[in-house]
Amino acid sequence: MGYGDELMLSGLVKKAYDHLGRPVALGRYGKNYLEKECLWGEVFDNNPKIDRNPGIGARWIHEVKGNRPYIDYYSTQLRTDGKVSYKTYHPEPGEIFFTEEELEKYPEYEGYIYIEPNVKGSFGGNKDWGFEKWQKVVESCPFKFVQGRGRRLGGVAQVETKTFRDACALLRRCSFFVGTDGGLHHAAAALGKRAVVVWGGLVGPRSLGYDFHINLRGEGVQDCGSSRPCEHCRAAMDKVSIETVLRGVEEMYNAESIKAP
Ligand SMILES: [Zn+2]
Repeated sequence: MGYGDELMLSGLVKKAYDHLGRPVALGRYGKNYLEKECLWGEVFDNNPKIDRNPGIGARWIHEVKGNRPYIDYYSTQLRTDGKVSYKTYHPEPGEIFFTEEELEKYPEYEGYIYIEPNVKGSFGGNKDWGFEKWQKVVESCPFKFVQGRGRRLGGVAQVETKTFRDACALLRRCSFFVGTDGGLHHAAAALGKRAVVVWGGLVGPRSLGYDFHINLRGEGVQDCGSSRPCEHCRAAMDKVSIETVLRGVEEMYNAESIKAP
């Protein structure tokens, strides 16, 4: 399960906790407490709303692997092209509970914009807007940007983040997030941060986006659900221009600086 899925699951944990008034157990899909299979991932560390030793009577929330609420499994099964059909879904912003130590990290990046030009995982490159285009965005703005580990953009500060949580601790200091859809836009939502998110042809904000983010997608682009290199996805990314992203970043910068004390 990826970080985005873990974060969306932490949103479901929050909802269940609010409803029940007590911690819930996290189960592996298709298993139950008799099989003693609890799910864990770094996103859930330190989360007091999760019951780590569930016994009889525990309430279970199940992981989303094989059970993803934004995938239409029925229609996916009927397809013969090996692609995925997505549903309309509104993810509940998740939660990350930082340790005292994590909360003290990276004060020097307060007010920076967190930018992520790198794409994790494969998806056939279909989530990659293009490193050079991100470079142009940075060069056309007077703002201070920081990024985590990975290929570094010129003119951008970099922190060699050790883990995803570490990246989230850095993001917590920043005013907002800029990048493509992935773990960090879900992290931004979990931290109550806004984001400028570039979407390609694989899946769109209708399924995995948050309304309080600026979601940029080429006009008329439909989801194709392909995780293989795809011409349609390449063309979908090319429809999001550097100017459009720049405008999004500037708009958000202005909105966030008004809010800042
Ligand atoms: Zn495609």
